[in-house]
Amino acid sequence: MNGKAPETEEQIIDRHIASSTEGFAALKTITDFCCIGCGQCASVCPENSLEIDDILKKPVLSGKCTRCGFCYLACPRSFLPLSRINEHYFGPEQGEEEERLGKFVDFFVSRSLTEQIYREGTPGGTTTALIHFLLDGGYVDAALLTRGRHRDVRYCMHPQSYIATTAAEALESSHSKFELSPVLANLKSLGSYQKSAVVGTPCQILALRKLQVVSSDPLLRARMPELSRIAGKLTAPITYAISINCFLNHTSMDRAYAWLGIDERQLIRFNENVSKDLYEKAFAEGKDWRWFFRNNYVTTDGVEQDYDVHKLGVRVLPSGCLLCNNLIVSKQADASIGFFGAETGVKEVGWNTMVIMHPELKKVVDAMVAQGKLERKPVLRGYGRTLRKVLEKLMPALDVMGVKEYLETGSWRYPKPLKLAKGPRKTYILGLELLFLGQTIRRKFFYEGPLKALKKAGAYIPTVY
Ligand SMILES: Cc1cc2nc3c(=O)[nH]c(=O)nc-3n(C[C@H](O)[C@H](O)[C@H](O)COP(=O)(O)OP(=O)(O)OC[C@H]3O[C@@H](n4cnc5c(N)ncnc54)[C@H](O)[C@@H]3O)c2cc1C
Ligand code: SF4
Ligand code: SF4
Ligand code: SF4
Repeated sequence: MNGKAPETEEQIIDRHIASSTEGFAALKTITDFCCIGCGQCASVCPENSLEIDDILKKPVLSGKCTRCGFCYLACPRSFLPLSRINEHYFGPEQGEEEERLGKFVDFFVSRSLTEQIYREGTPGGTTTALIHFLLDGGYVDAALLTRGRHRDVRYCMHPQSYIATTAAEALESSHSKFELSPVLANLKSLGSYQKSAVVGTPCQILALRKLQVVSSDPLLRARMPELSRIAGKLTAPITYAISINCFLNHTSMDRAYAWLGIDERQLIRFNENVSKDLYEKAFAEGKDWRWFFRNNYVTTDGVEQDYDVHKLGVRVLPSGCLLCNNLIVSKQADASIGFFGAETGVKEVGWNTMVIMHPELKKVVDAMVAQGKLERKPVLRGYGRTLRKVLEKLMPALDVMGVKEYLETGSWRYPKPLKLAKGPRKTYILGLELLFLGQTIRRKFFYEGPLKALKKAGAYIPTVY
C-alpha cells in the first residue's frame, strides 16, 4: 500500500482529457505499444486526418490536427470504462460460466446448413450464415465486415473492411483473416443506413462499446459533450455488435508467408482455415480433432507442414494484443462466435461455439434454426474438468514474450517451451473445458504477465476501470 487514495472516475476522465489536448501527439503514446489497429480513432477525427497504415497497422496523421483530442479520448487504449459498459449493457455475472462467457441468454454449438456458407466458413460458417439471414430478412440493412482483398485467392488473409448491403455480399466475408483488420475506421460509412450489424474481434467490440457509453452515460457526456455527440451519430445505426473469438492476431501475413516460404495462392489450410475436403480426408486417414488444432499449413502441391507458433509470433505479434483483457470470447458482444470448445467428439470438427447475449438476437437465431439455416447442438460439458483445474492451478502469470526486453530492444524474446504437468494418457480435455483452459492460458501468459512487466517498467498502460 502506498497510502494514495485510488483515483475517482471523474479524476480519471479529467486526467485523460488533459492529456488529449496534445492532439495526435497524445495518441502516439498509445500507438507506441498499446494500439490494436481497430481504426476507431480515424472515425471520430472531425478533420478526417487519420488513416490506419496498412503496414504498421497503426494510425498515421495524413492531414491537419486541431488538437481536439477526440482520437485519444475515443481510443479503447486510453481509458476503458469497462464497469460502465457492463453496467449499461449486461449486469452482474453469476457462476463460472457467466464469468468466462458473459451474461448470456443462450450458448451452444452450431454450423450453417447452407452448403456454400458451411464449406467456406472457419469452421462452421455460423457468422456468415447469421449476417446473411439478418440482411436477407431485413433485420439490418447493412453489415460492416472483413473480406480478403484478393478475391481470386481461396484463403486470402489480407483483410479489407467493407459494408455488405445484400445477403449475397455477406458471402464475401467468409473465413478468418489472420491479420488486424481496421474495421472501425469504416464507422462513418455506416451513417447512411438505419440498422446495421458490425462483425469484429473482441477488442473491436469493446472499442465500440466505449463509444456507445461515451454517447449515453451522463457523466461521460457531460465531460466530453462534442465527442459524445459524434459517438452517438456513429453508433446510432448499430443494431448488433457481433464478435468472432480471438486468442492473438498478426500484424502482417506477408511477413509470416515470407518466413514460412509459402505462397498464399496455394494454401488449402492455414490453422483453422481448412478446406472441408481436406479434413474429411484427414479423418478418413485416421487423424482426429488434434490434427485440426495444430499450427499447420497445407498447400495445393501436397506440402503439409507444422510450424513453430512462437517463432512466427516473434515476427508478427502486434504488441497491443498483449494488453488484451478479453478471454477469447467477447463478453461485451451481442453474440460471440468461435471454434475453441466446439468439438462435439474426437472425430468431428466443423462447428462453432455461439454465445448469445442479446435476447432479440436470440429470437433471430431461433428463427434460423426453425427455418433450417442453422444446426445447433449442446456444448460438450465436463470432459477433463479435473485435469483442466489442476493445470490451471499450476499455471503462473508469465510474461512469455518478454515485454521488458521488447521495450529495451524492439524485439520479442523467443519463449521457452513450457513444461506443464502431463495428464493421464488418453485423457482429453474437450468442449467447454478446453475453451476454459485456453482462456486461462490467454489470461495468464498474454495479459497478466505482460501487464505486470509493463507496470514494472513504468511504461504507459491504458486505464481500465
Ligand atoms: C486473428 C484471429 C484469431 C482467432 N483466434 C481464435 C481462437 O483462438 N479461438 C477461437 O475459438 N476462435 C478464434 N478465432 C475465430 C475463428 O477463426 C472464426 O472466425 C470464428 O470461429 C467464426 O467462424 P465462422 O465459421 O462463423 O466464420 P465465417 O462464417 O467464416 O465468417 C468469418 C467472419 O469473420 C470476420 N473476420 C474475418 N477476419 C477478421 C479479422 N481479421 N478481423 C475482424 N473480423 C474478421 C468476417 O467479417 C466474417 O464475418 C480467431 C479469428 C481471428 C481472425
Ligand atoms: S481527432 Fe482531433 S486530435 Fe486527433 S488527429 Fe484528428 S484533429 Fe487531431
Ligand atoms: S487502438 Fe484503435 S483507436 Fe486506439 S490508436 Fe489504435 S487504431 Fe486508434
Ligand atoms: S488478441 Fe485481443 S487485442 Fe489482439 S486482435 Fe484479438 S481481440 Fe484484439
